[in-house]
Amino acid sequence: MIVDLHSHTIASDGVLSPSELVKRAVDNQIDILAITDHDTIKGIPEAQKLILTENLPVKLVSGVEISTAWKNNEIHIVGLNIDIENQQLLTLLQAQEQGRIDRAMAISYKLGKLHIDDAYEQAKAFSKGDIVSRAHFARFLVAQGLVKDVKTAFKKYLGKSGYAYVPAKWCSIEEAITAIHVAGGLAVLAHPTRYDLTGTKLKLLINDFKTWGGDAIEVSQSRQTQDDLQRLAKLANEFGLLASQGSDFHDLVNYLDLGKTPPLPGSVTPIWHNWKLN
Ligand code: AMP
Ligand code: MN
Ligand code: MN
Ligand code: MN
Repeated sequence: MIVDLHSHTIASDGVLSPSELVKRAVDNQIDILAITDHDTIKGIPEAQKLILTENLPVKLVSGVEISTAWKNNEIHIVGLNIDIENQQLLTLLQAQEQGRIDRAMAISYKLGKLHIDDAYEQAKAFSKGDIVSRAHFARFLVAQGLVKDVKTAFKKYLGKSGYAYVPAKWCSIEEAITAIHVAGGLAVLAHPTRYDLTGTKLKLLINDFKTWGGDAIEVSQSRQTQDDLQRLAKLANEFGLLASQGSDFHDLVNYLDLGKTPPLPGSVTPIWHNWKLN
């Protein structure tokens, strides 16, 4: 069975429309696909509709990836199997969307001081949904020829040590987990090895996540070594958490293709172990 529980569409900073993403999942013979856009569920209805009308052989999991603040770090919490009409969750996502707009205007102001004008409007033009991401600023900076690629845009301007870095006012991990649970979903700590935390700090994060009711951690993801996969499998078991896997597909340049993450080790319990497939 092929499972991919982390992916993005143009509703946030992915490059495929929800319909294109679903078609790619079917081409890649994926059995279970979760769409987990940053702080929005707005891509999901289109994907649901396509699967239903064309009777496509893929189970779609409604998901979201919520940005949170934890001890001066930005931590991503994925919600899976959420009710996308739940009011409490939608209220939290609305606040996150506004936080993104406020941050985007502050980024734009900082870029303006460097004589890079109208960056907010320009970044918004790269966004096809309601979410403004730093990824859209990065694409604008690349298109302007100011940097050679998106990675350099983060290094020079948008990342933590960049000229135009602005921390966003995200919700807490606890608030994200609660909203996901209220909406009937499971909360997953996304890509735990991508936060540049020391081993001690990572354990502290996983411990807090578990204490606040978190359900699973991503064990198999894009851009990780076999050592990290084994390490995360051990941590999942040590903290009594289920294991998830996902490509975090945005595009083919920076991420694995849909469904192409390595299999989970037999020692962990997959988050989908008790899901009904029909
Ligand atoms: P935001 O959610 O607006 O804070 O933007 C973060 C998004 O930008 C992430 O979800 C990635 O898609 C992308 N991103 C972050 N860092 C990098 C990087 N160094 N290179 C390429 N893309 C990045
Ligand atoms: Mn992204
Ligand atoms: Mn993420
Ligand atoms: Mn993601």
